[in-house]
Amino acid sequence: MGQPSKRIERRDKAEQMRLQDTEIRITLKRVKNKILVMSGKGGVGKSSIAAYIATAMAGRGYRTGLMDVDLHGPSIPRLLGLSGQLAAFEGGHIMPIQYSAFLKVVSMETLLPDKDKAVIWRGPLKISAIRQFLSDVIWGELDYLIIDSPPGTGDEPLTVAQTIPEARAVIVTTPQEISLADVRKSIDFCMQVNLPVLGLIENMSGLDCPHCGGHIDLFRSGGGERTARQTGVPFLGKIPIDPQIVISGDEGRPFVALAGQSSAGKMIDEIADRIIKSSGSGEDEAAEPPAVSEDENPIEEKGGNGAMKIAIPTADGLLCAHFGHCEQFALVDVEDGKIAKTTMVTPPPHEPGLLPRWLNEQGASMIIAGGMGMRAQDFFTQYGIEVIIGAATLPPEEIVTAYLSGSLETGANLCDH
Ligand code: ADP
Repeated sequence: MGQPSKRIERRDKAEQMRLQDTEIRITLKRVKNKILVMSGKGGVGKSSIAAYIATAMAGRGYRTGLMDVDLHGPSIPRLLGLSGQLAAFEGGHIMPIQYSAFLKVVSMETLLPDKDKAVIWRGPLKISAIRQFLSDVIWGELDYLIIDSPPGTGDEPLTVAQTIPEARAVIVTTPQEISLADVRKSIDFCMQVNLPVLGLIENMSGLDCPHCGGHIDLFRSGGGERTARQTGVPFLGKIPIDPQIVISGDEGRPFVALAGQSSAGKMIDEIADRIIKSSGSGEDEAAEPPAVSEDENPIEEKGGNGAMKIAIPTADGLLCAHFGHCEQFALVDVEDGKIAKTTMVTPPPHEPGLLPRWLNEQGASMIIAGGMGMRAQDFFTQYGIEVIIGAATLPPEEIVTAYLSGSLETGANLCDH
C-alpha cells in the first residue's frame, strides 16, 4: 500500500532535482570558466589559494567570482575581511558582494545562523543545502568562477563536482606523504567523475629564511611535482610557507596585495597566469582581458534560423511602462525577420526576480519595455534575455515591426525604481 506514494515521492524528488539542475545551468551559463579548488584534506591552504587566485585574476581585469561552498568551515569571508557582510537576498536569489571592481564574492556562511556555532547537518540535508546554494546565487557575466570546494572525496565535494557543469579542478596539497596519499585519491576522484584537472599545486613547500634568504626544505618538498608526473596531471607550482600569508589571512587582507614582494606572492601570480593559459583563455586574452561583455546575438542564441521571441509588457493592449505590474505580456514570435504570431500571456504575481525566470521559461530572448530598474535589468541579463528600454506606449506588434526594421525609437528609462 505504501509503495505507490513512495514512488510518487521519488518521482517528485527527481523532478525537483531536474528543475534545480536547469536553474544551475541557467545561472552559470554566463560564466566562462568554472574552477573548483579542491584538496584531499583540510588545512593545506585550499581556501587561501582559492582567494588569492581569484584576487590575482580580478587584478588582471578578468570578471571573477569567488564562492565558498564549505558548510563546516567557510573561511573566505574571514580571509577577505568580509565577516559580517553577508550577501543580499532578492526575490529568492542570493546576490554576491562586490568586493572590488572585478571581484564578486559569496560564501555559504550566508546560510549559517551563527558562524561561531557548529551546525550539525545530516547527509541528505547537506547535499540539498549545497545544491540550493549553487542554484540561488546570481553571478551575471563572469570570466572565472573560483569555487572553494569542501575538502576530501566524500558527498560534499562530489555534490559540487557533479552539480557544476563544465567545471575543471585545481588540486592543492602539501609536500608530506600523508597529504600526497590523499591527493592521489582526489585525482582519482576527479577521473571517476569526469572532472578535468587543470593542475596540482604544492603549498607550504619549504620556507624562505627571513634572515639569510636561504630556502629551508621543512617537509622534503617536491612530492607534489612527483605525484603530478606519476598521475599525468600538470604541475602548477610550489608555494613556500610565508608568515605573511598567515598574518594577512588573520587580518582579512588578501595576500595578493603583497604579491611581488615575496617568493610566495610571485608564485601565486605565476600560478594564476598558468591557470588562465591552461583554462583556455589564451595568451591574447591574458594580455587584454575582456572588461565588457561580448556582443551576443539573441536571434542565433535562442531560436536559430533567425527565430526569436520578444516579450512586451502590456496594459489595455499597449506597451505598459510599469513592466512589473503589467496585466499581460505579449510574446511576439519572429521568424525570418517577420512577425509569425503574437500570444498574450498572464504573468505570475509580481515578485523581484520571478518575471525574468518566467519569461525565460516562455522562451523569450528579448524584452522591450518602457522602463525598468537596474536590478531587474540585471536579472534579465542573467537569464540571457536582452533588455531594450525606453520604448513608447504603442501596440506590441508595432514596436516589434519598428525593432525589426531598425527604426525603433527609445527614449529615457521610464521607471523610477
Ligand atoms: P584549507 O582551506 O585547506 O583548510 P586554509 O586556506 O584555511 O586551508 O589555510 C590554513 C592555514 O594555513 C591558514 O591560517 C593560512 O593562513 C595558512 N596558510 C596557507 N598557506 C600558507 C603558506 N603558504 N604559508 C603560510 N601559511 C599558510
